[in-house]
Amino acid sequence: HTTLGVLGGGQLGRMLVHAAQRMGYATVVLDPAPDSPAGQASHNQIVAAYDDQTGWDQLAEACDGLTTEFENVPAAALEYLAARKPVSPPAQAVAKAQDRIEEKRHFTACGVRCAPWLAVQTEADLEAAAALLPGILKTARMGYDGKGQAVCHTADELRQAWSNMGRVACVLEQKLALALECSVIVARGADGHIVNFQPQRNVHHGGILATTYAFEGAVPVALSDALVEATRRIAEGLEYVGVLCVEYFVLQDGSWVVNEMAPRPHNSGHYTIDACEHSQFDLQVRTTMNLPLVQPRHHSPSIMLNLLGDAWYRHGERIIPPWEAIQQLPGVQLHLYGKQDVKPGRKMGHVTLTAATVDELQDKAARVAGLLHLPFERLDVA
Ligand code: ATP
Ligand code: MG
Ligand code: MG
Repeated sequence: HTTLGVLGGGQLGRMLVHAAQRMGYATVVLDPAPDSPAGQASHNQIVAAYDDQTGWDQLAEACDGLTTEFENVPAAALEYLAARKPVSPPAQAVAKAQDRIEEKRHFTACGVRCAPWLAVQTEADLEAAAALLPGILKTARMGYDGKGQAVCHTADELRQAWSNMGRVACVLEQKLALALECSVIVARGADGHIVNFQPQRNVHHGGILATTYAFEGAVPVALSDALVEATRRIAEGLEYVGVLCVEYFVLQDGSWVVNEMAPRPHNSGHYTIDACEHSQFDLQVRTTMNLPLVQPRHHSPSIMLNLLGDAWYRHGERIIPPWEAIQQLPGVQLHLYGKQDVKPGRKMGHVTLTAATVDELQDKAARVAGLLHLPFERLDVA
């Protein structure tokens, strides 16, 4: 095995390519954009649409192991490739993750509770769903970063929101009062062996991840084991191979529900590059190339701050953020994805901070966030 192939050329593919190359693999990326973040970092890029069979043939020909970084890659592409070369994750698992209705049914089948929800596909469904309000209407397919969602308080708002979405298949989820949000990342090999990172805590702004806290106490210790156990069950139920991230909501009364899953490394796991013995991307290389999995040790308390395009604007003017000022601090790692087109709300990079103690870490995060004009809330940890 010498060449790893990846469907999708975004930042997740770029970080995967970096990890693969460090281990001596050649890489091939398939993406329609010739200057994609992963394409820039890869030895080789196939410029083709995700549904172009000629591109799939070239990829299968060139690679010894294949994976995806883009969760909306056609499941048919994974199936087609799997008939030719080893592919993970399996097409059926990715297909479930692409559809919120299928995804929630899978969680329920695994005995993991979701927020109260109903599928909205017909007028009659819409009527019935009003009983769950206030809620969030979410398109069943293709949503990310809070896109394709609408908060609804009344039956009229619900009707209007569904109409605005073009009456496509949706789910209505009850809007819950969240105490906190967290996520769990596992990697499962073809032999069924599973390893995991400890749960990390996430803060979102406007539906987009802003901050990840990864240190002991960031997620209540009493919850951690149950969340890891639920995530392992979800991966096993999918006969999953690869890296899987599952998001959870913890409610005011301490109970919790599952939100959604991503069949790939996740934004909330970027800290693992700098704070763990093996990153989520190292584990994806291992599952793709059928190498042994070992439990990664998390060696430093860590915080990740996402860099959206907004950080390149100050009072409406384009700026270059003060990279030198933040890099003067120890334990600050700047990651930029090589995207030329800066847009507000677009994920351009992230900063990972590590420190010897949680106190020192949070002081440093507050300073870096201040310099970059990013939101940051200090966590109260006992
Ligand atoms: P991602 O980029 O993580 O894939 P997404 O577009 O799939 O995002 P969700 O994860 O479903 O969106 O929701 C985005 C955010 O909106 C959540 O992280 C949470 O902050 C809030 N949210 C979603 N559903 C609910 C709910 N039922 N009750 C309360 N808040 C919610
Ligand atoms: Mg999502
Ligand atoms: Mg989410």
